[in-house]
Parts: sequence; C-alpha cells; structure tokens
Amino acid sequence: MVRIVDILELTVPLDAAVANAVVNFNGHTVSLVALVTDAVRDGRPVVGLAFNSIGRYGQSGILRERMIPRVLAALPDDLADPTTGWPEPARVLAVALRNEKPGGHGDRAGAAAALELAAWDLRAKLAGEPAHATISHAFGLPLASRPVEVYTGGGYYHAPGSGHTLTRELQGLRDMGFRSFKMKIGGAPLAEDLRRVEEALAVAGDGSRLMVDANGRFDRNTALAYANALAPYALRWLEEPCDPLDFALQAELALRYGGALATGENLFSAPDVRNLFKFGGMRPGLDIFQMDPGLSYGLTEYARMLSDLEGQGFSRAQAVPHGGHLVNLHIVAGLGLGACEAYPGVFQPFGGFSPACRIEDATIFPSDAPGFGLEEKPQLAPWIAQLLS
Ligand code: MG
Repeated sequence: MVRIVDILELTVPLDAAVANAVVNFNGHTVSLVALVTDAVRDGRPVVGLAFNSIGRYGQSGILRERMIPRVLAALPDDLADPTTGWPEPARVLAVALRNEKPGGHGDRAGAAAALELAAWDLRAKLAGEPAHATISHAFGLPLASRPVEVYTGGGYYHAPGSGHTLTRELQGLRDMGFRSFKMKIGGAPLAEDLRRVEEALAVAGDGSRLMVDANGRFDRNTALAYANALAPYALRWLEEPCDPLDFALQAELALRYGGALATGENLFSAPDVRNLFKFGGMRPGLDIFQMDPGLSYGLTEYARMLSDLEGQGFSRAQAVPHGGHLVNLHIVAGLGLGACEAYPGVFQPFGGFSPACRIEDATIFPSDAPGFGLEEKPQLAPWIAQLLS
C-alpha cells in the first residue's frame, strides 16, 4: 500500500499584468500542492503535484485548516484503491470534504481540486505513464492517439503606454503555430470593442477562428446589444456575455443569438452544471461548456458533469475547459474533449505548456513525462523545488 505521509502547499503569485472586463490579474495567486508518499522511485519519494488552476486565488487557509489535516488523519484504507493500494483521487476528495455541507461551491472547490488533481498526478507517476493515459484508462476510453486542438486565450486590455497592440499579439501567436484566438470584450465601449474585433479578424482571417469573452460583465441590455452587433461576424463563440449564474438571461441570449455561446468556467459543481443545461438554453451540437476541473473539485466531479451532459444529448466535443495549462491539456487529451486553451507567456509560472509538448498547426500533444509533467515546465520547476525543500 502507498501511503500519503505529508501534504505541502505553496501560494505562488501569478505573473500577469493584464486585465479582462472585470478582473486585473496582478495580485492573483495559485496554490501549488504536493502529496508526498512513502513510495520510492529512482531513490526518491513519489510526489503527486497539482494546483487549483488560474483565475481565482490560492487557497492556503482552506487547505491548511481543513482539508490537509483531514487527509493526513485518514486511515490508509479510506484513501486507497483496493485493487492497487494506491491513493485514489475520488477517495482523497471525499476525505478532504468530510464535514462540509452540500451547496455553496466557492473557493473550497478549488482547494479540494488541487488535492484531487495531485492524486491523479501521483497515480500516473506510480503507473509510470503520462496523466492523459491514466485518465483514459480510468474512464474506459481509448488512449489518445491524435493531438488536441489548441487555441489561445489572450487579447486582454493592457495598461495605456504598455506598447502592446492586439495585432502584434495575435501575429506573435500565429507565428507560434496557433490558428484560433480568443480576445476580451466588455472592458471598452461597444464601438471600441468592435474596432478591436475587426483588428483581430484581420489577423485571424475568419470569424470561425476568433472568440470573444465578456467575463460575465454585461447586464441584459448590454448583452443584447453586443449579441446583435457581433452576430454578423459569425465568430466561433461568444463567451460569458452575462453573469454565470443568470440562467434566464443566458437562455434568452441563446434564443436571440444564432451563434455559439460559451459559459461554465465559473460553475464549480455538477448540480450547478445541471442547472445550466436545464435552464440556460444550452444547445446540443452548438454551445460550449467551459467548466475547469481545477476550480471545481477536480476530475472526479468534472467526469460527473461530463456524464450528465452526455446524458442530455450534448457531446464531449462541446466541453472545452477553461485554464490553458498542463493539467487541463492532459484532461482534454485523456477524455477526448473538444479543444484545449493556451496562454503562452501569460499567467506564469502556470500558464501554457512545457517545451516537450509540441505545438504544430494549432494542435498539441502532451509529452511522455509521468503525471502531468509539471516538472518539465521551466517556469514552474523552481517553485516545485521550493515547495519540496
Ligand atoms: Mg472566460
């Protein structure tokens, strides 16, 4: 049996002097966690590593005060998969959530996710394989054989005088091998945003290669005005036009806007997602679900969401997780989801992938490193060393 002998957490600052319509990412943090075990490979303890995605905050308090003590106090049998004797992600999650009421899925969903995802990294390392292979196997899916489509998140609002232009940003991303680009809207007046959309289209070449993200900012009138103004561009999708929990307005927009809508990155539980597809007017074969395992209790809960979606006639090709980092790359590849987000150069040390993951013609394939391969990412390696020191 493999036992978890220690759990470490380090709150890492996010390097991102950018803003969307709602949030400036300067000052954001992420919890990097390690499950240290008594298993040894190559003379060193096997350690499961993960983090609670990007875009919220580190969850040191919830982890250190509630969840880490619960997991460390658990009996080995409470955590172990009976067939392998290894800590099982779903059991680690269940123990981390002991004595927590249902509902109210906020910051604790990210805290729990960091631990649950670290258990996946651990499981893959114990098996000596990349996490996408462990994930495919665990969910009875064929091993990923094709690279996954990758598109860039970006097109943020930069501070005046930063010298940044949208054209230069997207040209740089195109030179890196990307073909589809997402940009922010809602941080400027509609006319200025439309000018930015046209600037981006000049690089993207076609509306099917451009997505816009309002980050849940608009009220009903603004959302409808943007939907009307954007419709002629036939963009790939319009993301979070309204508050993520305003399912009635989401449904109204779905009736009024012919193109694809995307939402879900700010829903952190399977019951929330059930409400989205029951009441939010989401359309099978068209709209995009962006729930992020790292913000929503990890892969165990994400798999429940996916199963619910498929039970309602949606396709897993419509699942495109928010995030843009190595953990979600393995999840997209392992579960055969629609596409993977990327943030090259932004949100370091977590955003983007490792040099061993090759990006070519708008696709990417994870490397063969065991687990999520976080140790291969040069920006992250020093933080991992600090966490484990
Ligand atoms: Mg978004």
